[in-house]
Parts: sequence; structure tokens; C-alpha cells
Amino acid sequence: MKAIILLLFWLVSFSLCTAQTGVVKGKLILKNTDEEKYLAKKITAVLKSSSQVDSVLVNKDLTYEFENVKSDTINIRVVPHSYPFGIRYTFFVAQGETKYFEMEYSPVCQYSKSMGDRTCPTCKKKNKVLPILYGLIFFQNRREARKYYLGGCVVYDCQPSWFCKRDETMF
Ligand SMILES: [Zn+2]
Repeated sequence: MKAIILLLFWLVSFSLCTAQTGVVKGKLILKNTDEEKYLAKKITAVLKSSSQVDSVLVNKDLTYEFENVKSDTINIRVVPHSYPFGIRYTFFVAQGETKYFEMEYSPVCQYSKSMGDRTCPTCKKKNKVLPILYGLIFFQNRREARKYYLGGCVVYDCQPSWFCKRDETMF
């Protein structure tokens, strides 16, 4: 009798465990369609929770799918990350649930084009355009300081290179 109860208990808990999964589906949406040419490199979707780490290659049509996702709070991110900042999605997947969501994706830094060209995209001129400096900067004098625009202390891999004084835009 005890053995039967144990077996029943085991069967019930086993079926509960296997049923406690869901599906996560996603699609990357390009901000600009001309960025499609940068997608030749492999993009990986990474799923993470307290009990699970998994990754899949993103398909050519920019979709991906995780099956058998354990019911939990899930983190989804994409490698290489979207520019300018990597985005991480956090949500809960209940058992038997299928989660689908779209995330904007930019495979290139929007400022990489302007790096070597100081022509302002707004006024199409160069004469009021200053290089932007990042980090902790000390200048010798005011004249020196006026030649630059300070972009702040934070330095990361996708930042504008130029500041147009006429339009007060960074690019
Ligand atoms: Zn301008």
C-alpha cells in the first residue's frame, strides 16, 4: 500500500514537473531596413532564469523560439547587443503559456557613420561643429576648452563624435 501511494505521489509530481513549461517566441524588428546588410553575423537569443540558461540562433527571418521553458521569471537578451544600449526583457512565463514579443534591434551604432565626417546632418555645414570629448577632461586654458564639447564622464562603445553649436545637436 505504502509503495502504491509513493508511486502515485511520484507520478503526480513527475507530471506536474514536466507540465510546468511554457514557450517563448520572439522577433527582432530592425529600426532601419538598410541595417539588414549588417545581419550576416550570427545573432543569438539568450534566455536566463533562476533555474535555466539556454540560447538559440536567431533565424534568417529574425524570429527565434525557446521550447520547454520552465515556468519562472525569464530574462531575454540578444548577442551581439542592439545599439546604442543592449536591452534585456524580463517577464514571467506561466506553465502552458506561450509568450511572444517583438524587440527593436539595431545591429550597428547609429553614430558610426558620422565618426569620420563632421558635416552636421541638420544644417549640412561644418563650421560650428566641435569634436565631443568623453571622460574626465582637464584643459590648459579657456581657449583650448572652447574647441571641444564635453560629452560627460560615461564612456561606452556607441556615442556621438560631434556637436553642432548652431543646431545644438550631437551626431
Ligand atoms: Zn548644424
